[in-house]
Amino acid sequence: MTTCCVDYDGRNVVGDLRKQTLMEVLESAPARRIRDSFGRLVPPTEFCRDCLGGPTLAVSAIKQVTSVALALRDRVASRKDYARTAVPLPVRDNGGA
Ligand code: SF4
Repeated sequence: MTTCCVDYDGRNVVGDLRKQTLMEVLESAPARRIRDSFGRLVPPTEFCRDCLGGPTLAVSAIKQVTSVALALRDRVASRKDYARTAVPLPVRDNGGA
């Protein structure tokens, strides 16, 4: 499992879903380190430092400005209606234990 849809060579691999659950991968040290780095707006790997989100400086700048603008807009009024997709979890019967 990699962090990125353009990581064709597995340079940002954070885990293996054949051997780990999704939660194990997401909570792994490599995944946390990458998430923390992005949170500080620092490219976490050499691959990300080369990419910076796009093949050219102009594309990279447009993507970064757009993603910040969309994040700010989502804080004001979310574009996604998650409540509509929420499905209650089934209640397990544990036999009174
Ligand atoms: S910076 Fe580039 S390589 Fe890194 S996660 Fe973003 S798109 Fe992928």
